[in-house]
Amino acid sequence: MMPFHCPIEPNEHLLGWLCRVHLLSGNIKFAHTAATLEVSDKPLKGCNHNRAFQDGLNLLPDLNKNFENHTAFGLWAISLQLKEFGDWKQNNAQLVKCGFDPNKFAFHSSWKYCSSCISEDINIYGHSIWHFKHQLPSITHCYKHQLPLLSDRTKLRDLRSSSLPQMYDFLPHKFENETLMVEWSEFILTMFDRLNLNPELGGILRERTLNYLDISSDLRLKDKPKVLTIQKKMDSEVPIELLEYLFLFYSQEFKRHHSILWNTLGYSVYEKAKHPVYWLIILYWLKDKISLEL
Ligand SMILES: [Zn+2]
Repeated sequence: MMPFHCPIEPNEHLLGWLCRVHLLSGNIKFAHTAATLEVSDKPLKGCNHNRAFQDGLNLLPDLNKNFENHTAFGLWAISLQLKEFGDWKQNNAQLVKCGFDPNKFAFHSSWKYCSSCISEDINIYGHSIWHFKHQLPSITHCYKHQLPLLSDRTKLRDLRSSSLPQMYDFLPHKFENETLMVEWSEFILTMFDRLNLNPELGGILRERTLNYLDISSDLRLKDKPKVLTIQKKMDSEVPIELLEYLFLFYSQEFKRHHSILWNTLGYSVYEKAKHPVYWLIILYWLKDKISLEL
């Protein structure tokens, strides 16, 4: 149980709140705080759906509301079937594996913060918070200030051994095409807000994508040449800076080239669901071709 009153703040990430409870507890090790709260001592990473996340969610009164208002997992409605997503979100019973794809992704999943949000939050709450919308996968700019988000790949990986954003002073990453990255961040935010509000949009968008590309939902190996031809078109139309920022197989020549479309749109022996970033880049490519609204 909670040893003292420490309500979660609006826009605060569930795991950021757990980190704050730990800091206020005065314990040196998170394991001690975890034992008091009866929460698993698993890593507190923004990308992981693990036991610590499940236990943390159970500490709050309304599962559904807190899932929507304090986590980035609403985006997973684009990856999972509606029933599976609903069960996952409403019952908080099963773990979802497609949290991250470190062998394929070029962006990192460490905790991010915005310097202007720190000042604003200190004015409002007296302390900074880890915003859940700063942790959307592959996002680079703040949803409120459009400033580049700050982070550190190693020091901010796991909030069990980190502090609040106000304790850090990391420098922004320099993007060659900043305008493009602001646009990408705004696209992710828009899609997140829509999917978080209406998870059924996920299935609708998957179907519209397949219809527009004239691809069967039951892909067979014989369909591969057709899908790879469409992939070439996608590669020539999506800015390469963005593809390289997202996927290692665009920036590292030695990596076996992976087809986003082939590996996302159906044919997959090993995986049931693809990480939302695969879907998001396909939808970003088709944003002027198909409706992305309900
Ligand atoms: Zn901000």
